[in-house]
Amino acid sequence: MANWKLEDWQNYKKLILPDIPDLHKIEVYERHGGYEQIRKILDNPTEWTPKRVQEEVAKANIRGRGGAGFNAGLKWSFMPPKKPGVPRYLACNGDESEPGTYKDRRIFEYNPHLFIEGVLIACYAMEIDAAYVYIRGEYADWIDMMQRALDEAYAKGYIGKNIMGKGFNMEIYVHKGAGAYICGEETSLMESLEGKRAYPRSKPPFPAQYGLWGKPTTINNIDTLANVTLVMRMGADAYKAIGAPDHPGPILYGLQGHVKRPGLYEYPSGMLITDLIYKVGGGIRDGKKLKAVVPGGVSVPVLRADMIEGITMNTASLATVGTYMGTAGILVMDETVDMVKWLHRVTRFYHHESCGQCTPCREGTGWLEKLVGKFVEGIATERDYNLLLDLCDNMEGRTVCALADAAAWPVRNTIIRFKDEFYARIQKTTVLV
Ligand code: SF4
Repeated sequence: MANWKLEDWQNYKKLILPDIPDLHKIEVYERHGGYEQIRKILDNPTEWTPKRVQEEVAKANIRGRGGAGFNAGLKWSFMPPKKPGVPRYLACNGDESEPGTYKDRRIFEYNPHLFIEGVLIACYAMEIDAAYVYIRGEYADWIDMMQRALDEAYAKGYIGKNIMGKGFNMEIYVHKGAGAYICGEETSLMESLEGKRAYPRSKPPFPAQYGLWGKPTTINNIDTLANVTLVMRMGADAYKAIGAPDHPGPILYGLQGHVKRPGLYEYPSGMLITDLIYKVGGGIRDGKKLKAVVPGGVSVPVLRADMIEGITMNTASLATVGTYMGTAGILVMDETVDMVKWLHRVTRFYHHESCGQCTPCREGTGWLEKLVGKFVEGIATERDYNLLLDLCDNMEGRTVCALADAAAWPVRNTIIRFKDEFYARIQKTTVLV
């Protein structure tokens, strides 16, 4: 039975970012049960076969925390059977470039070993030899923090050859990102890791069949892998009892914008959006009224204030108002926000970040920016409004990767949900006869 109200979770003990001083240090992590799960698995390989570990993680239904929300254990099961002499890879996606998302860097900073242990468990379950931790290039400090944590784990024999004397070998490398939003898309991340320009690949073939250097590869988000350790620690059933059944487990909610107490908060999934804004975030600052909420990073559809009553942060509930959980980066906007200008800023971002490989995205993102710009300037016509909708139709689902969809969704939803604001900017033209 899920709990939906903040009051039900007053005694919630944080699992991903617990309040333990110096938890980033390996000795402290070990004192709090760290690396016990990979030890348990390696000590009991007949009980904890790779398949059994995979099944346990699939049963827990960890929904990918990078935005797509796919069952992580199920994704692992797409890896083909291991063939002798054929390497297999795990790519850990720490590119984290979605505006309004800043959770993975906190894991690197406060609990990196929870993530590293998750990587070890994932690689054991998928019989993988090497993992690459791809971290956003701008995250210079966090790249150093992650490297320090890996050095500690290597020094203690948790990574490398013959781990814990059990014959399990694997290496983990940190890779600095190339500084583009598109590098967070899983196939372009692989291209970037291979040293090439980060152009997304057409699918199929999918990474499990043809991934890094053409070998079987799985890509998981940093937060997802941290959750893997939790599943092994508490068991799939206990994990699934946290929060909403359709998107269970702890969530790092990035609360930002016009709330009194913005920040990164860990709570179970399924929290009421209103509780997050008014109880956790302290409400709207300066006595203003709430106008709009984007619940999962700027690419997911925006909600008007009157749409959020009773809506909780999980897939099924958010679907009833036509939006998504995304990365749980919640942008709160008060009544002073000009939605036309806000949308123009969003379109400029996607135009800048399009890799230019496919025409509907390369040209479409530029058109979106230009057309929304006409509304900002007050020179748009009704035809421009309809053209924006038409443009979205011609971008969504017609490109190599999902960036075009991510650019079109906020446009379509913002101009429909805030239609009055856009219509108020339409030029009142006088037709001379
Ligand atoms: Fe590049 Fe955009 Fe095509 Fe993705 S959709 S491959 S970002 S041009």
